[in-house]
Amino acid sequence: MPSGMNGGGAEGALLKVETLRKYFDVSKPFLNRLIEGEGRQVLKAVDGVSFVIPRGKTFSLVGESGCGKSTIAQCVVGLYKPTSGFVGFDGVDVSQLAQRRMMPYRRRVQMIFQDPYASLNPRWRVSDIIAEPIREHNLLSAETDIRSRVEELLNLVGMAARDRFAYPHEFSGGQRQRISIARALASHPDFLVCDEPTSALDVSVQAQILNLMMDLQRELGLTYMFISHNLAVVYHVSDFVGVMYLGRIVEYGSARTLFRHPRHPYTRLLLETVPNIRSRGQERLPLAGEVPSPIHPPSGCHFHPRCPFAEERCRREAPQPIVVEGMVVACHGVEEDRLPAPVPAQPPPPLLRDRPGGDAAQ
Ligand code: SF4
Repeated sequence: MPSGMNGGGAEGALLKVETLRKYFDVSKPFLNRLIEGEGRQVLKAVDGVSFVIPRGKTFSLVGESGCGKSTIAQCVVGLYKPTSGFVGFDGVDVSQLAQRRMMPYRRRVQMIFQDPYASLNPRWRVSDIIAEPIREHNLLSAETDIRSRVEELLNLVGMAARDRFAYPHEFSGGQRQRISIARALASHPDFLVCDEPTSALDVSVQAQILNLMMDLQRELGLTYMFISHNLAVVYHVSDFVGVMYLGRIVEYGSARTLFRHPRHPYTRLLLETVPNIRSRGQERLPLAGEVPSPIHPPSGCHFHPRCPFAEERCRREAPQPIVVEGMVVACHGVEEDRLPAPVPAQPPPPLLRDRPGGDAAQ
């Protein structure tokens, strides 16, 4: 890993991911392959990704759908076993832990999903949903203590104690995401992996949930990994950002620097396509082409068919990450210093603060 990839100092890292790979065998059955004369097909969903998340900070992975960011999240929380690489949490390589030794890790690492309705059991009352991790990890045994803790968690996420009697369908999308957050916090985690936590919500409700999450981070000292395709959201919540394209991180470093001085052509393209982040002075680059199939990615730099700065070397050779003024960039054009100067982006407007009951009517 280049030294600039330490994202604020590996010594203070809670999560350290090194050359993580996750491949899926997507071959047809053996007999079909034999008849059709085809070989095996491998989908390289994550192909050698490295990053570090310091304690108490927020790291965001951004990229178009299918770039591998959710696969990384699932490797980090232990839902997928990596093909190779290191996932170190507080100094322990959790990718190698046996299932029976995963319980303490599962208590400390929780996940918040995109669709709060799908992630909450519709047949359970809110009290049972939030109490489940408390019971599973044997954190409390007396029912009165569990009930007090559930009420405390509901208050923490801006809901009323009486909401524990209701079912998920009785709430708005924003309130259901608050219940998901309360459930995630029930096991006293250190680290939350948030997979597109607001993308199913209205814009004003998104702001309220993001504000709540940032308040909880300050209050409880949480560390976040955000997965998002929305750079406006990422701008507001992140300390560090990794931009992904077809299984690889192409640019990585401080969120502030990345938004002010995007270097990789793909990062620039993403910024150009966010409605709230307007470029100053220069013409927008067109968003050319579709994301290629990750089963048959382009040779060399995967981005070359869509890149306005592609040259022969780009088609031939995969760019290696280099450190440029504290940012890590994998691009021949940046290495050869032949790209036009980055266009600074105007920041999106600040998030609205919560209004009491603001997401009740969604
Ligand atoms: Fe474009 Fe070449 Fe850089 Fe890839 S390596 S992003 S094709 S300039």
